[in-house]
Amino acid sequence: MRCERVLGIEGTAWSLSAAIVGWDRVYAEASIPYIPETGGIHPMAAAQHHSSYIGEVIRKVLDSGVEFDGVAFSQGPGLGPCLRTVATAARALALAYDVPLMGVNHCIAHIEVGRWQTGCRDPVTLYVSGANSQVLAFRAGKYRIFGETLDIGIGNALDKFGRFLGLQHPGGPKIEALAREGRHYIHLPYVVKGMDLSFSGLMSAAKEATASHPREDVCYSLQENAFAMLVEVTERAMAHTGKDECLIAGGVGANMRLQQMLDEMCKARGARFYAPPKKYFGDNGSMIAYTGLLQLKHGMVLKVEDSAVNPCFRPDEVDIPWL
Ligand code: AMP
Ligand code: MG
Repeated sequence: MRCERVLGIEGTAWSLSAAIVGWDRVYAEASIPYIPETGGIHPMAAAQHHSSYIGEVIRKVLDSGVEFDGVAFSQGPGLGPCLRTVATAARALALAYDVPLMGVNHCIAHIEVGRWQTGCRDPVTLYVSGANSQVLAFRAGKYRIFGETLDIGIGNALDKFGRFLGLQHPGGPKIEALAREGRHYIHLPYVVKGMDLSFSGLMSAAKEATASHPREDVCYSLQENAFAMLVEVTERAMAHTGKDECLIAGGVGANMRLQQMLDEMCKARGARFYAPPKKYFGDNGSMIAYTGLLQLKHGMVLKVEDSAVNPCFRPDEVDIPWL
């Protein structure tokens, strides 16, 4: 069986993106993101957006004329209505082109695109996105979750706080810009429980702090606390596993302060810090296509009748034969 290129589709939440990827390059990629005018991501509105534009996105990558040997889609975790829309398109494509179908775990795709783009081999990954915040590392055949949020993902927490400040979604990058102007650290909760994290109390305290402090100082203090919590757990996972590579993944990974803190932690312990090019932080079709390529090579394909989506799909459910 040929295994040179895969067409992948991402659509777990805001991002609708398709790509055709080979082992050493992205041949074509097209994205039409869902951007809410007000409020956050509404699952049904996002799914409506995906169904309206998925034909256009797929048409654009097909127009590249590049052939593919399989179709991959983001099977979960994510918003159910969005996942189902994308899965339906992927199944139809696989049947129409008579090629294998691969269901990809979205968290694993973030790790694999990061390994691919940075050249790191066996990292501890800090995966920080809208809905997810996890520290992962490969051990005994799977990516194990060494620590994670117990309530909301750091990205959603930042976006909610941004909405509270009246900023348009997504708030993360705007909070980063405000934090750069912050001068005074305000005491806020710092919640690490064993290897796990909690952000909701920190968010409530940050909202309260805006009544008596400049928003720049609150954004600065919020970032310092949230990111230090994440870095602490990441460092402990590195110490525990003995790994000397650290990879950042997910939309919040684009934050330069978070990158700086991770880099300092790695330098202090003689480890190396890896960050992919900016376009690979947020959700994208290339990461699904590339992980689909790995899965195709290792026979991890699905029958259409077994290809139901899984909104709670955890990365440690997947065997990883390529490491
Ligand atoms: P993802 O779900 O991986 O696509 O990531 C989306 C999340 O990344 C949203 O919550 C954004 O607010 C967040 N994000 C994007 N850029 C930044 C940034 N520079 N700083 C903090 N958060 C960011
Ligand atoms: Mg993501």
